[in-house]
Amino acid sequence: MDEYDIVVVGGGSGSQVATAAAEEGLEAAIVERGPLGGACITRGCIPSKALIHRADVVEEIRRAPEFGIAAEIEDVDYGEITSSIHDTVYEKAENQESSLEESENPTLYRGEGRFVDERTLEVNPSERDADSVEIRGETVVLAVGGRPMIPPIDGLEDADFLTSDDALFLDDQPDSLVIVGGGYIGAELGYFFGALGTDVTMIGRSETLVPREDDAVSEVVTDSLERYCDVYAGFEAAEVSQDGDRVVVTAAASDGDDSNDGGDAAVELEADALLLATGRRPNTDTLNLEATGVETNDQEHVVVGDTLETTCNDVWALGDIVGEQPFKHAADYETRIVTANVLDDAGREVDYGSMPHAIFTNPQVASVGRTEGELEEAGTEYESATVPFDAAPLGMILEAGDGFVKVLARPDGEILGCHIVGPQASTLIQEVVVAMESGSGTVDDVADPVHVHPALSEAVYAAFDELSSSTYSTAPDWRDVSDRDGSR
Ligand SMILES: Cc1cc2nc3c(=O)[nH]c(=O)nc-3n(C[C@H](O)[C@H](O)[C@H](O)COP(=O)(O)OP(=O)(O)OC[C@H]3O[C@@H](n4cnc5c(N)ncnc54)[C@H](O)[C@@H]3O)c2cc1C
Repeated sequence: MDEYDIVVVGGGSGSQVATAAAEEGLEAAIVERGPLGGACITRGCIPSKALIHRADVVEEIRRAPEFGIAAEIEDVDYGEITSSIHDTVYEKAENQESSLEESENPTLYRGEGRFVDERTLEVNPSERDADSVEIRGETVVLAVGGRPMIPPIDGLEDADFLTSDDALFLDDQPDSLVIVGGGYIGAELGYFFGALGTDVTMIGRSETLVPREDDAVSEVVTDSLERYCDVYAGFEAAEVSQDGDRVVVTAAASDGDDSNDGGDAAVELEADALLLATGRRPNTDTLNLEATGVETNDQEHVVVGDTLETTCNDVWALGDIVGEQPFKHAADYETRIVTANVLDDAGREVDYGSMPHAIFTNPQVASVGRTEGELEEAGTEYESATVPFDAAPLGMILEAGDGFVKVLARPDGEILGCHIVGPQASTLIQEVVVAMESGSGTVDDVADPVHVHPALSEAVYAAFDELSSSTYSTAPDWRDVSDRDGSR
């Protein structure tokens, strides 16, 4: 048996715990059954954002006449788009693999790891003829991520369907597509396929798409996606059937009544392809956790304490198998916490209070902290200000449409949440995160510093200024006087 100070199972975010341990002179190993880099590089964030960049290019060209520039799209070489993205991301994964294989420490084991006892894993190699090996770690870090969840829909077992794992790299663009699932992955892919000209129908269970966002955000995203897709919000896929090359989805009103879109209690939707974007489940079932004291919850996520140690001493977990915040930057943050706790015995605890996230639809969405609905439900006293992007000169120049910045704060100025919809939202949210994390966490931390003119960050500035205690404001407000709602 090979023995190590640290064994990390899963070569995505967690692999950085092993490389940090090796730099400290400890013997470390990584077990990975697929491409290095995890979901993010080969089947998540990076390829999906590369596709969305193409959709953004299409949108720019489509909008060009609004700005006095005649332009039109002659052709989309779909196969070239997906194959070039495929080659780029797999080259990155292979580079990561080569650099690990070249280094003596950490040692890379290629195959699926399953527990034999609390600290010992059997690695069943990916290569067919290779023998399985047993490895043991004084410390074990679980970072095996997740995979698409397949919902129990009648008829699905006899129908062809895609998940996000396959939909990113199709050789041919589907003429028509039904997407089941109105969360962020469904919304992003709905935007991508719709912008490139696929006839997309989206089915989302809630009354709006991306229902976990602040209500005002969900409404704008739902309206904007209706430009690219037929949206059935408040519907659930009840049955699927294959009709030759076509797939037929019967969707029923989620609440069983007929007051939803179109007034129908059930609709039949037909397309060339079906994409299931119905959430992700953790890969905990690959690990044979029964051989350990590591407990899981009802959703099969690993149960951890605030320091990210599992219910078994010296076994730690991070990323999508913890399931607290299923984003790559959250997994990286948890990697930092686990590394400090394992290598320095730092006793650091996770705090997700200023964990942002973004949705790369058009317009983009970015959010940090709590939504207005959550504050209302908790009975928290708060003030709110919402400023449209066109209050800032560049927002007006870009014709940012329904974009806005919404700030939620306690009456004493403490920032409780911020929700942005509009161009570059994923970048604009960052100064709010810094204020919440490193400053005093008040609206003045955003409203006091000077903002570059005429940058889009002036929209953020204008929104925070509305709740700020500063006097003699010079925040921009380029809205028509009649649109100002008496708020400033
Ligand atoms: C389409 C899509 C788009 C996304 N877009 C974004 C985005 O824009 N921004 C964002 O922040 N997040 C995004 N995410 C989420 C992000 O990809 C994940 O949150 C992140 O990759 C989680 O990292 P992880 O290290 O926990 O898991 P992973 O990256 O999944 O890594 C886990 C690794 O463990 C391996 N593994 C599993 N079981 C075993 C085993 N038993 N033995 C050995 N190896 C095993 C897997 O092969 C995998 O490589 C997206 C996800 C998807 C699907």
